[in-house]
Amino acid sequence: MSTTAAELKELHDLHQKLHEVQEKLEGGPRRIAAREQIVSKKEAELEAARAKLKQMKLSSDQKSLQLKTNEAKIDSLKAKLNEAASNREYEIITSQIEADKVANSVLEDEILASLDSIDVQAKLIEKLQQELESAVADCKRFKAEFEETIPGLKDDEAQLQAAIKDAESCIPASERAHYQRLVAAHASSALAAVEENACSECYTMLEANTIVELNVGKIRFCRSCGRLLYRV
Ligand SMILES: [Zn+2]
Repeated sequence: MSTTAAELKELHDLHQKLHEVQEKLEGGPRRIAAREQIVSKKEAELEAARAKLKQMKLSSDQKSLQLKTNEAKIDSLKAKLNEAASNREYEIITSQIEADKVANSVLEDEILASLDSIDVQAKLIEKLQQELESAVADCKRFKAEFEETIPGLKDDEAQLQAAIKDAESCIPASERAHYQRLVAAHASSALAAVEENACSECYTMLEANTIVELNVGKIRFCRSCGRLLYRV
């Protein structure tokens, strides 16, 4: 490996390390946002489940009230039976009482079923509450852990940026602007190692004279993808 190649490899390594650090710095807020989204989703689920429970209780209460009203009606019909003026009237009242009893029996079944559903819904709410609590805790823990790493990552970033500046001195001034454009476009993959006489970024085979030039420490770019090449 020529001196230039070793220096370029070092520069490439530094760029890759900087990329890793920056990924961590940028990835943290993204991953926090994803966790916050889970929390919001759980909150919405819980709110919807609570609204549904409220509606279920209301409907059950209405049925119970209806049952009581019907029972009162049956009582008053029974009282009327004693005052019936004719057999015909007696039969009409009796059949009304029967019809109301049937209606009440249906209502009773419905009330029992709704109480079961209310129980199931209450359990679901409990489960959702636990899930929400654990999502909130997970989000909080992740946030705290990430925030703790920020100062260290920022230090690493600054150190790597300074080291990259130093390492860039191996690139002749005439090629510096070209190199900077590559970094702006491709960041850590602005440079590419030559592996088995091919560019490791785009796998294009290099011409023999390019290999020779690289061997003597010249700065060469891949003719296909434009990366700054170095031989390892
Ligand atoms: Zn290439």
